[in-house]
Amino acid sequence: KHLKKYFPVKGFKARKKKQMLKAVDDVTFTIKKGETFGLVGESGCGKSTLGRMICRLYDVTDGEIIFDGTNIENLKSKALKPFQKRIQAIFQDPYSSLNPNMTVAEIIDEPLEIHTNFPKKDRLNMIKAILIKVGFKEEDMNKYPSEFSGGQRQRIGIARALAIQPDFILCDEAISALDVSIQAQVINLLEDLQKEFGLTYLFIAHDLSMVRHISDRVGVMYLGQLVEVSTSEELYKEPLHPYTKALLSAIPVADPDQKQDLGGDLIQGELPSPLDIGEGCRFRSRCPFAMDKCAKVAPELKKVDGERVVACHLY
Ligand code: SF4
Ligand code: MG
Repeated sequence: KHLKKYFPVKGFKARKKKQMLKAVDDVTFTIKKGETFGLVGESGCGKSTLGRMICRLYDVTDGEIIFDGTNIENLKSKALKPFQKRIQAIFQDPYSSLNPNMTVAEIIDEPLEIHTNFPKKDRLNMIKAILIKVGFKEEDMNKYPSEFSGGQRQRIGIARALAIQPDFILCDEAISALDVSIQAQVINLLEDLQKEFGLTYLFIAHDLSMVRHISDRVGVMYLGQLVEVSTSEELYKEPLHPYTKALLSAIPVADPDQKQDLGGDLIQGELPSPLDIGEGCRFRSRCPFAMDKCAKVAPELKKVDGERVVACHLY
């Protein structure tokens, strides 16, 4: 609720002016238990920062994170620990997020050792079981990450996140670095695991096509704010916000005749600097529909129909 993350800007002049980079600027939304919530937007829009705040990997400048009824925003070490067990993350780069000097078994054992009291022998059995679940053989547990391909390494990351049986997993660009064919495999695996363990996902990607099939609902972020939240189906059928339209029309399609005419041009211009966000709508400098009002009044997220909310003066 009303999540904000401001970073002080480096440099003498900026410090003197107390300039702040508003990476996430008042974001409120809900992720339902058992669903996959897709979060999309260009790089630099604040989606990773938002994801990391939700997982308490980053401190929050302002706002609340209500996890299963508890505000975990201001919990400190001991009180936070049970929630850290329930909240796990998988990141983009399976190369750098796995320690090259640890075996697969040691990598997966790390969270188990920190968060559970199981003796070593039980933990080993758990590691074997989870590895088989994500498609490895028992003997793979004694190998090192360098002995595996990118897709396999991402599955090791998934096994590590799953080992302590979390409820919620942040997948931050978890498939973006993988080949398209491997992406589909990893998505299928994530979906199977979700069904089996009742997991909830926050699935972050810069590309709408990547979240399309896995997401129940999708939130679109622009310059630190949510501009539209919708069920996945409705969003792809009829995007409302001009930015969502632009993002969707940028997805390449196999047959150009099939391309939807969404009424908006491809995104114009560059992403403005988050440092000089003035008044009015943040998308106005790139919006083909911008009106006078858009320069003066910032549109708020409003419910338009059903579950759909959109922040734009056209609605
Ligand atoms: Fe475009 Fe105005 Fe809507 Fe912003 S509020 S997206 S500038 S029409
Ligand atoms: Mg990112």
